[in-house]
Amino acid sequence: MPVIIDGKATAARCNEETAREIAALKSLGITPGLAVVLLGDNPASQAYVRSKDKTCRELGMHSRKIELPAATSQSELLRLLAELNADPSIHGILVQSPCPQHIDEAAVVRAIDPRKDVDGFHPLNVAALAMEDPSALVPCTPLGCLELLRAYDIPTRGARAVVVGRSLIVGKPMAMLLLAKGTDATVTVAHSRTSDLVAVTREADIVVAAIGRPHFLGADHIREGAVVIDVGINRIDDPADPRGYRLVGDVDFAAVAPKCRAITPVPGGVGPMTIAMLMRNTVRACRGLTGRK
Ligand code: NAP
Repeated sequence: MPVIIDGKATAARCNEETAREIAALKSLGITPGLAVVLLGDNPASQAYVRSKDKTCRELGMHSRKIELPAATSQSELLRLLAELNADPSIHGILVQSPCPQHIDEAAVVRAIDPRKDVDGFHPLNVAALAMEDPSALVPCTPLGCLELLRAYDIPTRGARAVVVGRSLIVGKPMAMLLLAKGTDATVTVAHSRTSDLVAVTREADIVVAAIGRPHFLGADHIREGAVVIDVGINRIDDPADPRGYRLVGDVDFAAVAPKCRAITPVPGGVGPMTIAMLMRNTVRACRGLTGRK
């Protein structure tokens, strides 16, 4: 039977540690603060933002949830970010993705003070991750995946890892983290132009799926004894569910799990870790900004 990697329990343990760090900072008169900016009323984004705000408060942090109309202009958003950059009560800033089409997301990311860039998307943080600079703020989802591998003592040194997906948010930083000294995996990154994906993923000891296609990786893609980390969150119609839909990953869990040494479920795998790593990043950013390293 495979080990089912429990992201909820692992995230709860990470959050306990973060809460202790927050309490220690508070005893010095410092309260870490996170600002989350949401443009528009995308229901999935609203749910993510609510959950980030709630966790922040539960851990004892200052949280500012800023909800703006979808029609907010680029210059209004940049003015707000400049204000948040200058606000000493805010140590982490994120703009919930996706933004409305008229917003230039790359320019928005560059407008955030890199020291407050808790999503780790600013070019300076991307470069710092590539350079293995320990001060880098690293994107939360791949950081959460790595934390799960560590929490379950899954060896990475010399392991063959295949990351399916090359986005700036998940695939590329995941590949860099797996490749970094200390993690030491041999990494292949696959994408929509990869030929014979089955042959590529079947070589892997560790497969990270970040594709955005429900149940895309099946039993054929995975070799016996592999570890599978499923980043995907996809809504599929389900008349039996009161919401009319349910969430599934990029991996066909029922078909793949029996072959695996360990696998993350969806929901309850990588998702909770993303928020836990956001909380951790905010505390790190706060330490950096206040000189409490
Ligand atoms: P994305 O930006 O759309 O990237 C998807 C990647 O998958 C692309 O690199 C794409 O290749 C690749 N791909 C698409 N079709 C493929 C195919 N047929 N074969 C091989 N590769 C293929 O998505 P993302 O932002 O990385 O997110 C991926 C998934 O993770 C989504 O389901 C998203 O909802 C989920 N997610 C979850 C969390 C979490 O907290 N759990 C956080 C972020 C994202 P090309 O580059 O060639 O197009």
